[in-house]
Amino acid sequence: NPQILLARRPQGAPVPEDFRLVETPLPDPGQGEVLVRHRFLSLDPYQRGRMDDAKSYAAPVAVGGVMECQAVGQVAASSDARFREGDWVLGGFGWQGFSVRPAQSLIPIDPQEAPPSTALGVLGMPGLTAWVGLEDIGEPKPGETLVVSAASGAVGQVVGQLGKIRGARVVGIAGGAEKCAFVKDVLGLHAAIDHRGDLDAQLDAACPDGIDVYWENVGGAVQAAVFPRFRDFGRMVMCGMIAQYNTAAGADAKGAMAGPNLGPVVRKRLRIQGFIVSDSGWKRYGRFRTEMLGHIKAGRVQWREDVAKGLANAPAAFIGMLEGRNFGKQIVALD
Ligand code: NDP
Repeated sequence: NPQILLARRPQGAPVPEDFRLVETPLPDPGQGEVLVRHRFLSLDPYQRGRMDDAKSYAAPVAVGGVMECQAVGQVAASSDARFREGDWVLGGFGWQGFSVRPAQSLIPIDPQEAPPSTALGVLGMPGLTAWVGLEDIGEPKPGETLVVSAASGAVGQVVGQLGKIRGARVVGIAGGAEKCAFVKDVLGLHAAIDHRGDLDAQLDAACPDGIDVYWENVGGAVQAAVFPRFRDFGRMVMCGMIAQYNTAAGADAKGAMAGPNLGPVVRKRLRIQGFIVSDSGWKRYGRFRTEMLGHIKAGRVQWREDVAKGLANAPAAFIGMLEGRNFGKQIVALD
C-alpha cells in the first residue's frame, strides 16, 4: 500500500523533502470493515495547517503519519453487508492507495448522478463551504456587488456562480490572464481582476460604487486592496487566507500584512466573520446537494478540476496549489 507520510514539519513553504513515499503491507478488513481502493485524492489548503504543530480547530498530522485528506474510492473487499465490491465511497482516507475503514464511517456515492470526483469539489467540501458561507454570512442580495478572491479555485468558482444565481453582480479575482478568462467566460462573472496587475485600478473600474460582500480566500495584498472599498453594511466572509499560510507572522510572500485599519468597521457597520465548514455544514449537506445538483443539471453551474496523476506526484501538486499553480479544484487521480 503506497503512502505519503509527513517526513518533517515544514519551515515556511513546504518542499518535497517534507514528504516521504513509503510502501506498506495491504491492510485486511475485519468484521464490519471495508477495504477501499482510492481513486481520487483531494488536495486542500487546510492540509498545510495540519503539517504544523500549532493550536488549531483540528489536531496536526504526526511526523511519520499519513498526510490527511478526503478521497473517493471503490470498495475492493467488504466484510459488511452494506457494501459490495465496486461501490463508490467517500471518506477521510489520507494520501495513500488503500485504506480499511469501518463500514458505518463511509459515505456512499452514486456515480450515475455526477462523476465521482465531484464529491471532492463542486458537490463536496469546497462546494459546501461556498454555500454555507453565502447562506450564513455573505447573504448577497440582488444588485449588490460581491467580490471573491481565488475565484477560479475550488471554493471560489462555486462562490462566484452561487452569488450570480442570487442576483449579485460578481467580480472574481484570480492570478493570470488564463484564469481571468475562465472566470469571465466560463463561470460568467461580471468582471475578472488579475491580482498580478494593478489591483487598485482594476477594483476602481470593476466596482465603481464599492463592495457589499467580499469573500476572502487569500488575505495579504488582495485583502489590503479590497478592504477600503466596502460600502456601508458590507460583509466580509473570512473563509481563508492562503497567501499567509506559509509564514508564522501571517504576512504574504511580498511581506504584506492583512490587518487593515479597522476604524471603518464601525463607521460603515461592517460584519467580518470567520467560519469553518465542518462546524454545521455537514448537517445541511442534503439541502446543499439537492440544490447544487439542480444547478448542475440546469447548466447554471460549471466546474473545473486540475488532476495530477499518481500518488508520487501529490506533494508537487500540493506545493503548486499553495503557489497558485492549480487551475481549478486540485485532485490526484490514482492508477
Ligand atoms: P483553490 O483551489 O482556490 O487554490 C488555491 C488558490 O489560491 C490558488 O490557485 C491561487 O489562485 C490562490 N493563491 C495562492 N496564493 C495566493 C497569493 N499569494 N495571492 C493571491 N492568491 C493566491 O483552493 P480552495 O478553493 O480549496 O481554498 C480556497 C480558500 O478557502 C483557502 O484559503 C482555504 O484555506 C479556504 N477554505 C476554507 C474552508 C473553511 O471551512 N473556512 C473550507 C475550504 C477551504 P490564483 O492563481 O487565482 O491566485
